[in-house]
Amino acid sequence: MNAEPIFDTVLVANRGEIALRILRTCRDMGIRTVAVYSTGDRDSAVVRAADRAVHIGPAAARRSYLYAPAIIEAAHSTGAQAIHPGYGFLSEDPDFAEICGAEQLVFIGPPPEVMARLGDKSLARKLLGEAGIPVLPGSEGAVATAEEAERVAARIGCPLIIKAAAGGGGRGMTVVRDPADLGRAYRATRAAARIAFGDDRVYLERYLDDARHIEVQILADRHGNVRHLGERDCSVQRRHQKLIEESPAPELPVDLAERLGAYAVRGARATGYVGAGTFEFLVTATEVALIEVNCRIQVEHPVTEAVTGIDIVAEQLRIAAGHSLRHSQAELVRRGVAIECRINAEDPAHGYRPSPGLLEVFRPPGGPFIRVDTHAHPGYRIPAEYDSLLAKVIAWGPDRPTAIARMRRALAEFEIEGPGVRVTTGILTEILGDPEFLAGAHTTAFLDLREPRATDVA
Ligand code: ADP
Repeated sequence: MNAEPIFDTVLVANRGEIALRILRTCRDMGIRTVAVYSTGDRDSAVVRAADRAVHIGPAAARRSYLYAPAIIEAAHSTGAQAIHPGYGFLSEDPDFAEICGAEQLVFIGPPPEVMARLGDKSLARKLLGEAGIPVLPGSEGAVATAEEAERVAARIGCPLIIKAAAGGGGRGMTVVRDPADLGRAYRATRAAARIAFGDDRVYLERYLDDARHIEVQILADRHGNVRHLGERDCSVQRRHQKLIEESPAPELPVDLAERLGAYAVRGARATGYVGAGTFEFLVTATEVALIEVNCRIQVEHPVTEAVTGIDIVAEQLRIAAGHSLRHSQAELVRRGVAIECRINAEDPAHGYRPSPGLLEVFRPPGGPFIRVDTHAHPGYRIPAEYDSLLAKVIAWGPDRPTAIARMRRALAEFEIEGPGVRVTTGILTEILGDPEFLAGAHTTAFLDLREPRATDVA
């Protein structure tokens, strides 16, 4: 497939569906692959899919997928030239990217200094605000004391949100609606951030009720070319974590979509971004504000792939190998609508708590315009150590009603059973029939305002 040299061998420093997805693109491109796995993932499909697989430690991520020395050693011992970090784990760790460079290994992601600047969410707000991208009123950088938090709160008013500068995955955030709660919330968020991220710096920004989460996928090469691949709507969230994503964003005025794309391109240029990345915005009827930049491939990237026909992982590999982007902005047209549903092993009826266990039945859907990204199989034991994402179902249609109908069909086909295992299929099906969702009028508050009812009881 390649006329141009990419890499002979790539190591994938991740697990689960994203590791498998990256390995598959490498295979398509004729690249030799190395998987790494923990003891908990010994029987994973990832191990079988790779040309080589290297055991890197016990199930605890801290001693395997987050343990840089074992990963670097695996790369050297297998002759890998590059490391794809996937999402989560080491993907947003500038120190790891730095170590890769020092070890003569290509880290497939932005330069470490760019990751460091954008990974600090309060610094990213400042830098991108200075570049002319709208951000919400909030603190200038991290807020060091409760008194300072009071002063910022007096200026921006309630509701506001306290966020960990190093936060991610919907964790380390507290919404404050009553000024009387501020001091307690400030201290609690700092304590939670210290435990979750080893960094207790927090910042404040105004909280938008009734906002849509709309994000823009970008690609930037090392030669100063930046393109956007359009937006995704990720407003169906539970507890600030995404459950359904789609591209294009429904009912979004074209001029607004173009503005968001232009902001993302400007932000990438202003920060010297290289690689695939995502600029996340909140959008209301009257305002638009950037909330953060993600320096990695995202879980929801397949919806963009489905509408653009572009394999984003292949582009990451090409960019990391030093090639220029292949498409002009005008060539990046989107066709139809794609929707992704996240099938998580968790129980919507009990606060979406994780639900590990053995899968006795696992029959993914198929048929026209359905893509399923998963590493699971019958007999797969869902580990308790990692995140609960079991599968992603992506449906494409020439229009939104067709994509939704295909998704409903696919979810109905999906059979997942195991003792005690609960999954999100039921709640996803309910959402797909909800009038507000069908009208494309839902905001990030959509799911939290509803009482979860259906669960898949195995
Ligand atoms: P994370 O890095 O943990 O994903 P984000 O900053 O991207 O955190 O925010 C995740 C979600 O939290 C958003 O999609 C949105 O639902 C909510 N959120 C974050 N900041 C705000 C805000 N200022 N106003 C309203 N909602 C917000």
